Amino acid sequence: MKFPAEPFRIKVVEPLKKTTVEEREKLIKESGYNIFLLPAESIFIDLLTDSGTSAMSDNQWAGLMKGDESYAGSKNYYHFEQTVRSIFGFEHVIPTHQGRVAENLLFSTVLKEGDVVPNNIHFDTTRANVEYHKARAIDCVIDEGLKVDSELPFKGDIDVFKLKKAIQNYGPDRIPMIMITITNNSGGGQPVSLANIREVSAIAHEHGIPLIFDACRFAENCFFIKEREEGYQNKSIAEIAREMFSYGDGCTMSAKKDGLVNIGGFLSLNDGRLAQKITNMLILIEGFPTYGGLAGRDLEAIARGLKEVLNEEYLEFRINQTRNLGEMLMQNNIPIVKPVGGHAIYIDAKGFLPHIPQKEFPGQALVVELYRHAGIRAVEIGSLMFAHRDAETGQMVYPELELVRLAIPRRVYTNAHMQYVSEALSEIYANRKSIYGFEIEYEAEFLRHFTARLKPVNV
Ligand SMILES: *Cc1c(COP(=O)(O)O)cnc(C)c1O
Repeated sequence: MKFPAEPFRIKVVEPLKKTTVEEREKLIKESGYNIFLLPAESIFIDLLTDSGTSAMSDNQWAGLMKGDESYAGSKNYYHFEQTVRSIFGFEHVIPTHQGRVAENLLFSTVLKEGDVVPNNIHFDTTRANVEYHKARAIDCVIDEGLKVDSELPFKGDIDVFKLKKAIQNYGPDRIPMIMITITNNSGGGQPVSLANIREVSAIAHEHGIPLIFDACRFAENCFFIKEREEGYQNKSIAEIAREMFSYGDGCTMSAKKDGLVNIGGFLSLNDGRLAQKITNMLILIEGFPTYGGLAGRDLEAIARGLKEVLNEEYLEFRINQTRNLGEMLMQNNIPIVKPVGGHAIYIDAKGFLPHIPQKEFPGQALVVELYRHAGIRAVEIGSLMFAHRDAETGQMVYPELELVRLAIPRRVYTNAHMQYVSEALSEIYANRKSIYGFEIEYEAEFLRHFTARLKPVNV
């Protein structure tokens, strides 16, 4: 069936508030035309992120009641540890309260000034954590992975030629790890093939470099492998995951994605000495090793979520819900990044609003209009997030892509909500010539998109 029905029924509901266009116009103006500054209660469909926004199952909620809040040796930790080991296969399991803390613990222990970390594309927090430790984060994704229209099945793959060149240029001694992000979040949620993972693993290990997965959306990546890579159609998601992780030496994980929980993460490693060092650091900044900044009940919810996310009916629904939204949009001529990735749709704002120049933030203009017109919150991934002044020339440098991301929370919205989003975008597309650009009124020095205030141009 092309449009699979939700493989769950709804047992608890959270009413959504409907607001009028006039109310939203006032709210978005008061928020400096920045959707990060909006009260979430004023949003009808919130597609800001798929991180920490999942709906937990009845089984996970029941698990919360089984929370063992002992400071040390909580039974939930053992369940969590055993579950992570059985799926990921790495020996040591270190809980953290978010994925970025796992990154920070790993990098602060391993990286030295001048080191280099290759990845397909580093996620923002990963890049920031690498750079904070005075190392260089380099992206080695295949060229097609950066093209809006390339329809390759595994656009998240690492270009092994670029990787080998990096190893040659910097030398393996300056590369303490190679990373692979599955799925490739910053590249549109595109999957990485097992063939590529196998090849990268061989190159890494030939040079004595460990391979670490950024595993946030590992189950979604496994589903794409099952669907698209020859020889995996009859394997279970758990089997594919086991093979995938067998090529690596560890992983960082934000359980807020494929852990199907609202908070949590972990780091898992085979290297016992490294794990010991990191555990000592964990005690300093997160907590005792059997809770790592989380409550026992949170660890229980993660353990249960990690088992549920392997369920194929769930994954089929999840991936197809996103894909079907993409297909509805394409049928209505909305320009989007193809093929549709696992967790989000990316609208090409330059194609949608060709009359707005990049310096007037076409992506942000579309984000504002989506909220104003329909109460939908999306996020700009374009000039507001990435444009910067070149330190040497003083010229503004604009990103190649000007995107608007619609991230789909897991198990939260029905297909009827997706239909609503599609219709809203079609209405906006029909009236797109009336949409105007923006200029910045206030910006912070770093990560300006979170707090910037804007105002309409020529109004
Ligand atoms: C979300 C995310 C992270 C960071 O995890 P947090 O839990 O938000 O700290 C790291 N890498 C990728 C690919 C992510 O999507």
